[in-house]
Amino acid sequence: MIHTKICAECERLLGDAVTAVRQHEVQMATGISLNVNGRLTEQLRKELAPAVVESFNVAQTAWDAYCEHLIAHGLLTRAGKAIQSA
Ligand SMILES: [Zn+2]
Repeated sequence: MIHTKICAECERLLGDAVTAVRQHEVQMATGISLNVNGRLTEQLRKELAPAVVESFNVAQTAWDAYCEHLIAHGLLTRAGKAIQSA
C-alpha cells in the first residue's frame, strides 16, 4: 500500500455527494422530460419545483462537505483548485 492523504472518510463523503447528485439528476430529468414532451403544466411545475430545489441543496451541501474534507487534507484550495501533491 502506498502512502496517500486520502482516507475512508474521503470515500464516504464522495459517495454521499454522488448519491445526492444522482437524486437531483433524476428529478431534473423528470422535469426536463415532461417539458420536452409538452406535459409540464404550470401546476405540475409548482408541485415538482420544491423537491428539485431541495435535492439541489442537499447535493450542494454534500459536495461542500466533501470539498471541506479535501481542504482539511491539503488536497484542495478554498478556490476549489485541486492541489497535486508530491
Ligand atoms: Zn479523507
